[in-house]
Amino acid sequence: MGIAVVDSTLFTSVDPVVLAGSMCGACGAHVFPAMDSCPTCSSLDVTRVGLPTEGTLWSWTTQHFAPKPPFRTDEFAPFSIGYVDLGPVIVEGWLVGKTQWTIGEQVNLVLAKAWTHEGAPVFTFGFEAVT
Ligand SMILES: [Zn+2]
Repeated sequence: MGIAVVDSTLFTSVDPVVLAGSMCGACGAHVFPAMDSCPTCSSLDVTRVGLPTEGTLWSWTTQHFAPKPPFRTDEFAPFSIGYVDLGPVIVEGWLVGKTQWTIGEQVNLVLAKAWTHEGAPVFTFGFEAVT
């Protein structure tokens, strides 16, 4: 049995974890999640690509209250959300492992447990500090 993820279309690979973005053949824009047309120039010449797995933290915040449905967690604890600059694109994601961050900090893409379903973990993507 493979690794269960919240949405398999977000990834080109889960082991090792790589996010799936799209790259425009006309203007070079990268987007995440992948789209069928370019949001910058409307071209349909887009290719699904694996995005870089390391980046720098561009901005972040820590939430001290539980997210409302349909978001779900097993048990609430304060969590951080950030924008990570992967080079060709900035990706919004969960920042895992701590709740105090520094803009410009180096982070790596990881799988992070989103919730438990029938006793098994379901993963989404997140970023953790490079140590
Ligand atoms: Zn384009």
